[in-house]
Amino acid sequence: MNYLWQIHLIYGVGLFVVGTVVGSFLNVCIYRIPWEKSVIWPGSHCFRCLHAIESRDNVPIFGWLFLRGACRNCRAPISIRYPAIELLVGLLFLGVYLVDGVLPREYVRDDLTLMMKVLYHVILVALLVAVTFIDADLTIVPASITNLGIVLGLAIGAAFPEIRPEPSHASTHLGGLWVGLKGLFVGAALIGTIRTLGTIAFRREAMGIGDIHILAMIGAFLGWQVAAVTPFLAACVGLVPALWKLTIFLAKWISGRKYNSSDREIPFGPYLSVAALILMMAWPWAWPGALKFYFDTFSMLFWFVLGQDG
Ligand SMILES: [Zn+2]
Repeated sequence: MNYLWQIHLIYGVGLFVVGTVVGSFLNVCIYRIPWEKSVIWPGSHCFRCLHAIESRDNVPIFGWLFLRGACRNCRAPISIRYPAIELLVGLLFLGVYLVDGVLPREYVRDDLTLMMKVLYHVILVALLVAVTFIDADLTIVPASITNLGIVLGLAIGAAFPEIRPEPSHASTHLGGLWVGLKGLFVGAALIGTIRTLGTIAFRREAMGIGDIHILAMIGAFLGWQVAAVTPFLAACVGLVPALWKLTIFLAKWISGRKYNSSDREIPFGPYLSVAALILMMAWPWAWPGALKFYFDTFSMLFWFVLGQDG
């Protein structure tokens, strides 16, 4: 009798629960870090009556459900975004476990490697979720988060050089550090280039410095190949809301109603984050399945053009 699925179930559910608790902490970070407030003190409280949230109401997802979305003291509504982010992070943690632990194609050397791989990926999930919601709310990317991410990506990647995805594996600590640094520089340089070209073409700032930091962090974690693909996938992800806006515009135009365009700049950071998460989850299949071919072809052309055949 094989008990493997029971073990997977316990770890999977465990990671989901841990994810909701981390999501609860990220809610605090998302509201406080932009204002440079402490994320530890004071505890959570109602925004209207300042009544402290009791620990029995502070249980992720369920606390909000028990309170039916309102403060226990003054019945002021509590945004559904709180339990939604807790659920989202729980599901992403579960997804990381499925991709790393349950469906792996590559041979995982031992349990410590798997554990570190899962930890490495859930740390990136937490950082990207925090950055995404702050960027979406305020169009700022706190450097305190991305700098922490870059340090963690480089340090853990150097300590456990084999946990990065193919072909960013390394066998030595120095090799792991080098892979992370290459990813950091490619990520930063790529957004820097797009930003410069865009600024020249559109005569206004095309992308923020924050986007450079986000892709540098992604590169430090996942290697330069992932960093190179992320902006292109992000542009595709960004098409979905753009097409949605266009549909509304056309519908209103056809029906003769006035279209009140919100001129608010749509930040690119959230799309970078979503693209990086998709790539992180899909990479074990996308790389050998398709992407490796494109990278090989591109590098062959590159060296051919430079006249250094091979
Ligand atoms: Zn209240």
